[in-house]
Parts: sequence; structure tokens; C-alpha cells
Amino acid sequence: NLILFWHRRDLRLADNTGLAKAIAKSSKVVGLFCLDPNILKADDVASVRVTYMIGCLRSLQEKYTQAGSQLLILYGKPTESIPKLASALNARAVLWNWDVEPYSQERDRTVIDALKEKGIEYPESKNWDQLLHAPEDIRSGSGGVYTVYTPFWRNWSQKPKVFPQDIENLASLENLTEVEQEIAQQNGTVELPSAKDLGYEWEGELIIAPGEIAAQEQLEEFCYSAINEYQEQRNFPAVPGTSLLSPALKFGVISIRTVWEATVEALENSRSDETKANIETWQKEIAWREFYQHAMYNFPELASGAYRDTFKNFPWESNEKHFQAWCEGKTGYPIVDAAMRQLNETGWMHNRCRMIVASFLTKDLLLNPQWGEKYFMQRLIDGDLSANNGGWQWSASSGMDPKPVRIFNPASQAQKFDPEGEYIRQWVSELRSFDTRCLLTGNITPLERQAVSYPEPIVDHKVQQRLFKGLYKQQKELI
Ligand code: FAD
Repeated sequence: NLILFWHRRDLRLADNTGLAKAIAKSSKVVGLFCLDPNILKADDVASVRVTYMIGCLRSLQEKYTQAGSQLLILYGKPTESIPKLASALNARAVLWNWDVEPYSQERDRTVIDALKEKGIEYPESKNWDQLLHAPEDIRSGSGGVYTVYTPFWRNWSQKPKVFPQDIENLASLENLTEVEQEIAQQNGTVELPSAKDLGYEWEGELIIAPGEIAAQEQLEEFCYSAINEYQEQRNFPAVPGTSLLSPALKFGVISIRTVWEATVEALENSRSDETKANIETWQKEIAWREFYQHAMYNFPELASGAYRDTFKNFPWESNEKHFQAWCEGKTGYPIVDAAMRQLNETGWMHNRCRMIVASFLTKDLLLNPQWGEKYFMQRLIDGDLSANNGGWQWSASSGMDPKPVRIFNPASQAQKFDPEGEYIRQWVSELRSFDTRCLLTGNITPLERQAVSYPEPIVDHKVQQRLFKGLYKQQKELI
């Protein structure tokens, strides 16, 4: 009667839709995580993300042990190794939660086919555990898929939400027998490796500790304080005004229903319309996450390039030196460099700065947004196909967003959102002693730059802006 529950982006026991169904069917439920070489050996993996994920798996193993069961770790291609293991263990079913990503959908279909062949049960329905609403449930009046956020939000926010559920019988799970343990080992299960064992070493601190407890505490702390000023504070990269929950949400270390419930409670406890507006602004960010996941599900072609025709054959430049300078935070534009250094040093970047550097890469350096998108995936602790692709397509103006050309001026962004130059000083240490005005406008003479080994601006914003607009006009006319 054994059921294997395959964890992927749901590294928790609490309020886990698919796991609850598995436990309702059998008391012998063993967790399974598959270290997939297709993912781990791809060229868009970040050491910091693997480190966080391994930490979360370790913590999930402890939770399983406390519940009387265990989390098996399998190393191998899931399409082959999971059906093989399930069959060797004579498992009745392998169950899991669904995912929107194209790779995941294709992999799951192959796993299902292999399980079917062996007479092993698989999920009967799509468990959209990581979303508040299934992609199929959010449709416009005419039944179409939303491509614009605001009408999506209006519909999505009105729909009743499910609240977190305790999983019954979780405390009385059975484990594998000794014989079964041996069979599992003979069929590919391994000890949980460290990130370093997998070739991904991250020695820096993590912005959030791995595991369910840390995520829950972070949510509570945020909902107690920063959420009440979120609307204003979320835009200032020097201020700790956002939740830092993105890695936990990416790996499902916290359930999205738990997060939503916390916002509803915060709304109930709020005394002023102003506070309510702040909380609602954060809810809208949660909805952006879903908007992009629904978009990826409905338009998987987003993963491979521009959505808009104007950008499908855009004559992007291929200046590797400019790209390198951008990656290293050496463009000579202080706010851009501060942001890229924050990313390189911490594995995370503030949202305002993600928009600034993405606009700079595409509209100032005229480089292909896919270069930036990939670099982000190679560095971000929260790197996530749907959110990252959505953010890059938005910034490059190549996505579903109807605004034609959005160009950020780095100097005005810095003046508005880092008015004291605090963020720039934190990350661009060679500019620490400069006058705030110089930091913000970038008006630093060549001699001054030379003295502190800070580079000259690699391009002229005004010139590049004109160039970009010209190219955009040309492309539009061609269509
Ligand atoms: P908060 O402000 O506290 O927001 C709460 C949660 O809402 C976040 O944790 C996240 O899950 C979600 N969220 C917030 N803003 C967005 C958004 N614009 N799009 C989608 N979800 C959002 N987010 C990722 O999780 N992974 C990525 O790989 C990613 N890449 C991005 C690339 C670019 C170019 C841009 C402009 C944005 C990207 N974002 C990405 C969105 C956003 O920057 C991060 O989610 C946010 O900075 C995470 O910090 P936080 O948890 O403190 O966010």
C-alpha cells in the first residue's frame, strides 16, 4: 500500500495539497525528491539557489523523520529513475503537485506514461498547490486568457480563496521496512549530498534561512511590521521594506495559502485605510507571481523568446565587453553597479533595481534580454522561470504588457529611490566618500573616477535612448 510522494517545488509538509491526498489514501507515505541532472547540469543554475534548496531538503528530511516516515533522495533522470524505484518497491502510487513550467509538464507526461505501463497510480487531477487559483479558472468574460495584469487582478482578487488545511494523520506515518530500504538503495537512492558535493559552493550568507520554520517566522515578522508601510517602502532598495520570501515561495517552503491567509488577517487587524492600502499592494505582488505563472502555462513559448512581434527579430547588439561590465557591476553608472554587485554578493537583488538593471541592459546597452535573464538565473536565490521571464519581458517591452517603450533613466531612478545614496554607498565601496549628488547623477569627472578606480560610463544614456527608439520604430514599421 506504499505511496511515494514526489516533492518538487513544495519542500514542506504543512498544507501540501498533493501530500494531503496521498496521506488520505494510505498511512504508508514516503517522501521522494529527485536530484535531476537535467536541471542540475544546465547552464542556468545558481550556487546560492542550490545551497538554499539543499538546506530546505535537510529540514524536510527532519520533518519526515518526526512524522515517522522519511524523505528518499534519488539521483537520476526522473523519467527513468522514479518509475524504476516505484516498481522495485512495489508502490501502489506516485503522487505529486503540478507545475507550470514547460520542462516540468513534459517530464511529468513521460513519468505518467511509464507509471501507467507498470500499473502504478499517478495523480488523477492537477494539484495546483503553488497557486491560489488554477490557470484554467481565471478567464475573461469571453473565456480568453488574460494577457494584461490589471483585468487579471480584478478577476483573480474577487475569487474566493482556499485557506490552509492541516494534514490529518501526518503524525502516524509508517516508514519503509529494512528490506525496502535496501531495495531503495539498490535503485538509486542516496544520502542527501551537500551543495558542494553537487558542484555548487556558496559560502556567503543566505537572505533567508532554509526550511519551513524560517519561512513562517519571516512571514509573521513581515506581516507584523513592514507590510504596513509596504506601498512606499518597497521602492527603496536601502530600506528592508519587502518580505524576502521569494526563495521560500519559489521552492514552496511556505504554502501560498498560508501567505494569503496572513494578508487577510493583517487586513482584518488594520485600523486605517492607509494600512489596508499597503497590505493590498503586497497582495497585488502575490498576484503578479500568479499572473506570470499562468502566462507561462498558457503561453509556454514565452520561455524561448519575445512575446511581441516587434521584438522577435530585434537587432540586439552582441558586445560581450558591455555584457561583462554589466555582469560585474562596472558600467560606470553607480545605481546599476550597486545593484549588480548586490546580486553577485548576496544572490538577491531588490525589485526596483532588477527593473533598473534590466532596462539598462536592454535599452542602454541594446543587449538581448535573454542574456540578462540567464545571468539572473545563474545568480538568484529566488531564480524562477515564470517570474524572471515575466520581469525581463516587462523590462524589455517584449512581453504581454501593453506599454510600448519603457526606458528607465538610471540617474532619475537613483535620485527618486536612493535619495541619500545609501544603497550606492553600501555596494560601490570606492564611491563611498563622494558627494551624494555626484553619486546620484553620475557626474563624476574622469580624474575622480581614475583616482578610485571606478570606470567611465560605458555608454551615454541619451545617445543610447535615441538609438533604441530608432530601432524600435524600424521594427514596428517592418511588421
Ligand atoms: P516582496 O515585495 O515581498 O513580494 C512578495 C512576493 O511576491 C515575492 O516574494 C514574489 O514571490 C512575488 N513577487 C513580487 N513581485 C513580483 C513580480 N514582479 N513578479 C513575480 N512575482 C513577484 N521574482 C522571483 O521570485 N524570481 C525571479 O527570478 C525574479 N526575477 C525577476 C527579474 C526581473 C527583471 C524583475 C524586474 C523582477 C523579477 N522578480 C523575480 C520579481 C521580484 O523582483 C521579486 O519577486 C522580489 O524582488 C522578491 O523579493 P521579496 O520576496 O522581498 O518581494
